[in-house]
Amino acid sequence: MSDLRFRPADVSYWLDTAPKGPDRSGTEVSGHVDVAVVGAGLTGLSAALHLARKGAKVAVLERDTVAFGASGRNGGMATTGLSIGTRDAIARYGFETARRYLETYHDAVDTIEKLVADESIDCDFARSGKLVLASKPAHFEGLRKTHELSDRIGLDKTRLVPRSEIHSEIGSDLYHGAMVDTKSAGLHVGKYTRGLGEAAARAGAQIHEKAPVEQVRRLGGTQHEVVTARGTVRADQVLVATSGYTGRPFRWLQRRIAPVGSFIIVTEPLGKDLCDQIMPTRRMASTSMNLLNYFRITPDHRLLFGGRARFAMSGPQSDVRSGRILHKAMTEVFPQLSRTRVDYCWGGLVDMTMDRMVHAGEQDGLFYSVGYSGHGVQMATYMGKQMAEYMDGTTDANPWRDLSFPRIPGHFGPPWFLPFAGAYYKFKDLIA
Ligand SMILES: Cc1cc2nc3c(=O)[nH]c(=O)nc-3n(C[C@H](O)[C@H](O)[C@H](O)COP(=O)(O)OP(=O)(O)OC[C@H]3O[C@@H](n4cnc5c(N)ncnc54)[C@H](O)[C@@H]3O)c2cc1C
Repeated sequence: MSDLRFRPADVSYWLDTAPKGPDRSGTEVSGHVDVAVVGAGLTGLSAALHLARKGAKVAVLERDTVAFGASGRNGGMATTGLSIGTRDAIARYGFETARRYLETYHDAVDTIEKLVADESIDCDFARSGKLVLASKPAHFEGLRKTHELSDRIGLDKTRLVPRSEIHSEIGSDLYHGAMVDTKSAGLHVGKYTRGLGEAAARAGAQIHEKAPVEQVRRLGGTQHEVVTARGTVRADQVLVATSGYTGRPFRWLQRRIAPVGSFIIVTEPLGKDLCDQIMPTRRMASTSMNLLNYFRITPDHRLLFGGRARFAMSGPQSDVRSGRILHKAMTEVFPQLSRTRVDYCWGGLVDMTMDRMVHAGEQDGLFYSVGYSGHGVQMATYMGKQMAEYMDGTTDANPWRDLSFPRIPGHFGPPWFLPFAGAYYKFKDLIA
């Protein structure tokens, strides 16, 4: 580990290598808008763009800067599939409903592809596909069942890769086979999220950075006075798009979301030849464990390697500790990288819900879309678009409208229960 070089822990590779947007921290926060959006991540910016395209006057209020949250910190994987997996989804909701939910994720990836084309967002979007790697022999049997179900569902042609052929997909001997899909995509999320912000601004949305929402006062119905540290706006509607960063002004939501840290390291540039050796097909890869690792090649030929590492919140020290765990895991997968330098290490918060499903709707006059549970690059973009319809009265636009949104028992603020949840999932992985 002596050759590990960490950059300041709070800078993601994506934001460091994307063109900077204009400084929006000196704007005037006042007046009356049709919609106030809280949070300038993919949900908030996509909603702002689609609302502004419909002619609405929109103000986006962001505590920090555009893409500060998970949207500027993730793996850049716009994959198909639900957080709970296809088999669990069918067991829980039945075949038809699970199929509808899965189709929503396909639509979500299509939505990004269309947005990127329509708004000319230069963000390296590529349908490189996804690789799910069997970490244990029994997991390959699980993948076989998922593959058979995927055939029945008919949304994508998945393919099984037996262990004997695994080197066609990955330069590692650690895995017992894999399943490949071809619809999933990769992108540069720094360029994408900032590009979406620019598109929303071009469409007329006002974006206010360094404008933390401290209070929302209900005036009646869906009308609110939204109080920020830089001024107050009156809004006919408010969309809360704060994901794993949801705090006190939104207590009802906060009690339903567990903010769980997810962490990433990115190596120095490896060059095309080494990348061809370790990940020849450039797919978005993840392992089959509950506490999984995910990895991919970046557009400039580095390896990005992420995972939960530890069940902890993200913060400068926590990120570095997790980075060391990830580095160990990375060199177990790719021993050929044992002397490779790590240039970036950061963490972010994932918004886990009790059922690991997305939840969207209206509560006490506030609209919300949260709970992407680690699958939000595509779904947050999609839900921003859908919420623009839902808030206009098209209730069918919300694909998650039938799901009840349970509280997390005993959760009132800081997530004290994370180490216990971590121990539970570690145990599940041990016995699986
Ligand atoms: C390390 C990591 C890796 C991930 N990898 C993937 C991946 O590869 N693929 C995938 O699909 N998903 C991934 N995800 C999940 C995905 O990034 C998120 O689901 C998605 O970005 C959520 O977008 P959002 O706009 O809802 O929230 P965010 O991007 O988190 O934005 C919420 C914003 O709200 C702001 N905010 C909070 N409170 C206030 C307030 N009171 N006032 C004003 N602003 C406020 C925050 O500052 C923040 O900017 C990952 C997440 C993490 C953390």
